[in-house]
Amino acid sequence: MKKEKILIVGAGLSGLYSAVLLQDRYDVEVLEARERTGGRILAMGGHDMGPSWVWGHQKNILQLIRALGLELFPQYTQGLSVYDAPQGVQQFKAPEGALSYRIKGGVSQLIAALEKRLHAPLRLNEKVVSLSQTEEKISVKTVSSSFKADKVIITLPPRLALESIAYSPALPSSLASQLQHIPTWMGYAAKCVVEYSEAFWREEGLSGFGVSHLGPLGEIHDACTQHKAALFGFVHSTATFDNFEEAVIAQLTRLYGKKAANPLAVYMADWKKEQFTSTLLDRMPLREHPSYGFEATHMEGKVLFAGTESALSDGGYLEGAVLSAMKLAKSL
Ligand SMILES: Cc1cc2nc3c(=O)[nH]c(=O)nc-3n(C[C@H](O)[C@H](O)[C@H](O)COP(=O)(O)OP(=O)(O)OC[C@H]3O[C@@H](n4cnc5c(N)ncnc54)[C@H](O)[C@@H]3O)c2cc1C
Repeated sequence: MKKEKILIVGAGLSGLYSAVLLQDRYDVEVLEARERTGGRILAMGGHDMGPSWVWGHQKNILQLIRALGLELFPQYTQGLSVYDAPQGVQQFKAPEGALSYRIKGGVSQLIAALEKRLHAPLRLNEKVVSLSQTEEKISVKTVSSSFKADKVIITLPPRLALESIAYSPALPSSLASQLQHIPTWMGYAAKCVVEYSEAFWREEGLSGFGVSHLGPLGEIHDACTQHKAALFGFVHSTATFDNFEEAVIAQLTRLYGKKAANPLAVYMADWKKEQFTSTLLDRMPLREHPSYGFEATHMEGKVLFAGTESALSDGGYLEGAVLSAMKLAKSL
């Protein structure tokens, strides 16, 4: 019997894992707008420029990591932290929080391992621009091609799903308004990684964790990999990008001493500027983690909205992306 055709829009963690879970039962094809897979998961110079951490309570991503043969190591937190105060740098003992873990080789290993298990076709540089319902099928147009499917799964951040794709028939106004009110997790973030020849802060009894209201980095962490020494920081919302690299190096030198003045490399990912992640509305930093989770379909249940922001628990996180794919696979 001919299998039903399912098009999955987006090759981030949600889209790729959904494709792997569905590919034996359906005729699956994945369409990705970027020239790469991974979405918000991105490595530069072997460093995580998107997500870094998973936490112990996140059973489903932890299970997936194990199943894919990947290994974890704990985030380095030993030693004192630094506070970049206007009156001078202060060292303090940070209160112990929930332990976080990183993936050996970086989070992009997760994407590489899923891609190895994917035998369904994956098309890059295929930005989906419209979906329209014809008699039996859903017709999907990208900038350069067109496709037909029985079902379409959209794994884009909800605001992007609303703003970048035209629907015929149009989305009901209640659904359009619901999608518009769901912020893209980390759609406002910019992450800077500074690589060094050695983790000198560790030798000086510092954890690498730092907090600053002066910027340009607002929250700094140890980001050493198995092979490279590095610190990373989330860029402070008030930071300007003039002479940004010099300002970052000056800040790290103020906080961690003169060895910080000579980095090997500086990497930067500004997610606000990523047209396939963030919308204009997402540029405002969020004060707290939004309460995510929604269920939505369109075109008589043939178009399904998924992605991490749709997950009822751990929405926004990698765990949410995995949960969204698992829920979808169970429902189809
Ligand atoms: C700086 C940063 C730090 C983070 N830190 C953590 C962390 O430490 N721990 C954690 O758990 N999570 C963290 N996250 C969140 C985590 O990255 C996401 O939860 C997860 O990657 C979302 O996966 P997704 O597949 O649902 O969405 P996405 O990764 O956004 O995937 C959507 C895909 O759709 C594609 N796309 C967009 N528009 C179109 C279109 N029109 N047509 C076709 N394809 C399209 C995109 O290119 C993308 O590949 C962080 C995110 C960022 C940016």
